[in-house]
Amino acid sequence: MVALTLEIAEEPRTLFSCSHCDVREWEHEGSRASLAGVLDDLAKASGTA
Ligand SMILES: [Zn+2]
Repeated sequence: MVALTLEIAEEPRTLFSCSHCDVREWEHEGSRASLAGVLDDLAKASGTA
């Protein structure tokens, strides 16, 4: 299991990824986040949405 933290608009999102079972889960503020939500926040933070 690999944890990768991404700062979006000064709020960290953490991606947990397992190469064994192909699991990818995002976490934000202690709870699970959807990839769509993370991408949406990323788009807003970069000013493209
Ligand atoms: Zn696994």
